[in-house]
Amino acid sequence: MDIDRAKLLIRRGVKLRCPECGLGTLYRAPFRMRSRCEFCDLVYEREQGYFVGAIYVNVIVTESLLLGSLLIYVLLARDISETIIAILIVLAMILPLAFFHHSRSLWMSIDHILNPERRNSKEFSKDSGAK
Ligand SMILES: [Zn+2]
Repeated sequence: MDIDRAKLLIRRGVKLRCPECGLGTLYRAPFRMRSRCEFCDLVYEREQGYFVGAIYVNVIVTESLLLGSLLIYVLLARDISETIIAILIVLAMILPLAFFHHSRSLWMSIDHILNPERRNSKEFSKDSGAK
């Protein structure tokens, strides 16, 4: 695995850019993903179930943030108040939505790192139909 390429792909994922070329944007509006890259024609909308990995990315990041926040609070305050629990519950509802775009983008980058041969394969596109 090429570490420099992996870093580049993760940076593109953080910026919500096409993992292949880095020029195209993944979203045309909030929660509305483009079907293809406008520059390199990479297929963004894949087969059903492709973005299950994005759900894992989202859960791992949001739960890590919540648990990290709780641990830091407990270490500093040496107590758990009802207020901090209420704040964390609200954050637990907001963070997955706030991280939605980036979780999909980062998942596409991770997939691109792990499966570089699938980059432009039409067989994985959503509109390719049943085989
Ligand atoms: Zn592209």
